Amino acid sequence: MSFGALGLCDKLLKTVSDRGYTSPSAIQVEAIPAVLSQRDVMAVAHTGTGKTAGFVLPMLQLLLGASSPQARQVCALVITPTRELAAQVALSVQNYGRHMNIRSAAAFGGVRIEPQISQLEGGLHLLVATPGRLIDLYKQHAIDFEHLDILVLDEADRMLDLGFIDDIRNIQTLLPRKRQTLMFSATFSKDIKSLAKGMLNNPVLIEVTAANSTVDTVKQLIHPVEKER
Ligand code: AMP
Repeated sequence: MSFGALGLCDKLLKTVSDRGYTSPSAIQVEAIPAVLSQRDVMAVAHTGTGKTAGFVLPMLQLLLGASSPQARQVCALVITPTRELAAQVALSVQNYGRHMNIRSAAAFGGVRIEPQISQLEGGLHLLVATPGRLIDLYKQHAIDFEHLDILVLDEADRMLDLGFIDDIRNIQTLLPRKRQTLMFSATFSKDIKSLAKGMLNNPVLIEVTAANSTVDTVKQLIHPVEKER
């Protein structure tokens, strides 16, 4: 399977070949066409499976065809449980969107909010944010969700583990009902199923296991040795 067969435009095909990706990963084979067809997606995939490109690449393509965001508007929102993941996803967006005129930013707590408010002033195609800071930005009238087309919940299981469920439900009430929603989670627990039921509309279900995952019956040991050995 080649990236070309997944429906990505020439600019994005150039990006993936510039990055040295020769073929799409299992999650990308399934997620890219599903996102491009504007369906909701529930994907069970670990970090390391290439899931970020699986949603960022098709989202960039959809955003290219959308109208430009006006002041404080955000067209696509990726919610992550941690600032580290937010920064990492935002970097992927910048890298994959290098040949495109896409305005994106990351917003998370623990740093000053003012620069994030300034970045939102001109509107953004894509914002990656952690739940608490996103709500703070909303309360400060720095963000307008009226034209939000796509919502992504990345690492949804960690979001629940870290106690963000109320924030997520709160954010959901602020977003337009008519939107595309993508949910990524390493597990498909009862709680994740229930969250998905309330947020997704007839989703495409994608399940892949990490190629490098280890079965539970394998015992792992570490023996530290000096560098010379
Ligand atoms: P992720 O699971 O999204 O954290 O991605 C894991 C790593 O795989 C990242 O360093 C990506 O740059 C890399 N990657 C993503 N897609 C591909 C691909 N199709 N071929 C090779 N590497 C990839």
